[in-house]
Amino acid sequence: ALVLLSCILSIASGLVISRGKGSPEARREGLVIGLSMDTLKEERWIGDRDLFLAKAKELGAEVLVESANSDDTRQLRDVESLITRGVDALVIIPHNGAAMARAVEMAHAEGIPVLSYDRLITGAETDLYITFDNVKVGEAQAQFIADRLPAQGKLRLIRIYGAKTDNNAVLFKQGQDNILHPLIESGRIEVVFEDWAEDWKPENAKKITNAAITKAGQGIDAILASNDGTAGGAIQALIEEGLAGKVIVTGQDADLAGCQRIVAGTQTMTVYKPLTLLATQAAALAVKLASGRPIIAQEVSDNGKVQVPSVFLPIIAVTKENLRETVVKDGFRAEKDVYGK
Ligand code: BGC
Repeated sequence: ALVLLSCILSIASGLVISRGKGSPEARREGLVIGLSMDTLKEERWIGDRDLFLAKAKELGAEVLVESANSDDTRQLRDVESLITRGVDALVIIPHNGAAMARAVEMAHAEGIPVLSYDRLITGAETDLYITFDNVKVGEAQAQFIADRLPAQGKLRLIRIYGAKTDNNAVLFKQGQDNILHPLIESGRIEVVFEDWAEDWKPENAKKITNAAITKAGQGIDAILASNDGTAGGAIQALIEEGLAGKVIVTGQDADLAGCQRIVAGTQTMTVYKPLTLLATQAAALAVKLASGRPIIAQEVSDNGKVQVPSVFLPIIAVTKENLRETVVKDGFRAEKDVYGK
C-alpha cells in the first residue's frame, strides 16, 4: 500500500479520518482489505466473517482473512503477513486489545489504516472503531436480573465475566456494575462467586459455576454470564446439579444454541447485537479507509493513547417473549432452527 497522505483531522461536528491513499491519483481499482480475526471457534465470528466478506465483495474489494486461534503471537504474525501481501486497509478483531497496539504500529509504518472491529485496540493510534454499545450490553444483562429480585430477602448471584484480555469484557462488567452496585450495597443482591472466564471459553465458565456451587451450595438464584458461550458452560454445570431451568441465566450474541436454550427455558435472556449491521458498515468503512476517502465519526472512545473515532450500534435485550419479534423476524436465526419446526 502506497502512502501519500497520513493524517487525522478533527472538526467540530465529528472526526474526519484519512490515512493511506489520499490523493485520487494514488487510487487504483481492486482494493484489498486484510481481516485479522481472534478466533473462528465461536459461532458469532463465523457470521461476522461471512457478512463482512459478502459486503466487501459487493463493494468490489478483495478480503484476505486470517484467524489467530486466540494467540497473540500468531495474530501479530497474521497482521505482518497481511501487510506483506499489500493490503490497503486492515480490519482487526483483537484477541488482546493491548497486545495488538503493536499491529497498529506495524501497519502505520507502511501507511496502512486500521479499523478496530467490535473490540477496541488500546494504547495505539487506532484509526477507527466500530462496535455495539458494550456498556449498554452489560447494563441490559444486569437490569434483567435487577428486575427479578425476590419479593423478600436477597438474590444470590454468580458473576461470570469474559476474557480479561478483551476490552469489551471490561466494558460489559462496567455496565453490569452500574446496575448492580447499589443493589449489592443495599444487600438486595449477594455475589456468592465471581471470576473471569479465560478466553471466553465455555469450559472455564463451567468450572467457575462448579466452584461457585461447591462454595455456596445449591441456593443460587441467578448467573450473570457475559455471553451465550459462557452461559452454555454455566448451564452445563447446572444440568449436572439438577438446577437447569431453576436459575436465571443471562447471555449475549443470540447464538443459535443460546436461542434454543431460551426456548427450552434453561437460559433466560440474551443480548441480540445485529451483526449484519456491524459487518456491513465495517466493510463499507474499511473500503473507504482503504481508498483514502474521508470518514466522519460522531463518537470517540478513549483507548488510553488517543480518542479513537467510533461508531456505536444499538443492542436489543431478548427473552422468550420477544425472541420471535427480534432475532427471528430479522432473519438472524431461522424459526425452524430456533423452535425445531
Ligand atoms: C464480543 C462478544 C463475544 C465475545 C466472545 C466479545 O468481544 O463482543 O459478542 O461473545 O467477545 O467472543
